[in-house]
Amino acid sequence: MPRPKLILFDLDGTLYLNGQLFPGVTELIEKLSHSDFQYGFLTNNSTIGPRDYYRKLKGLGLKLRQHNVVTSCEASCLMLHGLGLGPEIYVLGTRKFRHFLASQGFIHSYSQAKALLIGFDTELTYRKLTEATRLVLAGIPIVASHPDPVCPGDLPDAGMLLEYFKAARPGTIIQAIAGKPHRWLVELLEQRFQVRREEIIMVGDRVNTDMRFARNFAMRSILVLNGQPQPDLGEITPDLILPEIGQLAEQYWTLINRW
Ligand SMILES: [Mg+2]
Repeated sequence: MPRPKLILFDLDGTLYLNGQLFPGVTELIEKLSHSDFQYGFLTNNSTIGPRDYYRKLKGLGLKLRQHNVVTSCEASCLMLHGLGLGPEIYVLGTRKFRHFLASQGFIHSYSQAKALLIGFDTELTYRKLTEATRLVLAGIPIVASHPDPVCPGDLPDAGMLLEYFKAARPGTIIQAIAGKPHRWLVELLEQRFQVRREEIIMVGDRVNTDMRFARNFAMRSILVLNGQPQPDLGEITPDLILPEIGQLAEQYWTLINRW
């Protein structure tokens, strides 16, 4: 394995919970900012755009630039471009998600929609579900920003909507998904940070998104528990399991610097 150049952090459950940073996170990011590592903040959450995430993380006191923030919103754009879908798409998502997509050239439209893009829609209405259902029944391509069924805080997320629309018509398939653990995000990361996937360390709290993402693309992986019991790993084997994220700047710092 080549030496790692980029450390990626999942956000919810990894760096913070309910808007509160876990102990040692500020110091960890400060330490990374003076090291040879690049670092990135990576979230599948598509309710707000990358700009809002930048402000949120800055507001928590973390050292970063806009460059350091990667969300499934940007990965969704890369996916839509890559698949040649759009520019008119039906966005089942928040106003902020629609706004971000519009800034990248994708127009929200029902009557002209070339694809249905499913995000984490905290502004979901029956009208939106009806319009999206009609598009699904008409056989439009379906893509999603990310696959998580439930967001931390026990909130219904995009993955549940995917199952909902699959139930609308037998044989309905999801054409592509942008966020962790899928490939569009990796391509975005390689472009953004000028690294190869084998040079990435993925740090996260979820086995099926974070750790699977690392495994799918031969990245190194660190699972953090942050006080939670160790989840069922199945066939996934993280390179390191940390009880607390703050330990990465302390007893495990030497280890990751030797990888
Ligand atoms: Mg998480």
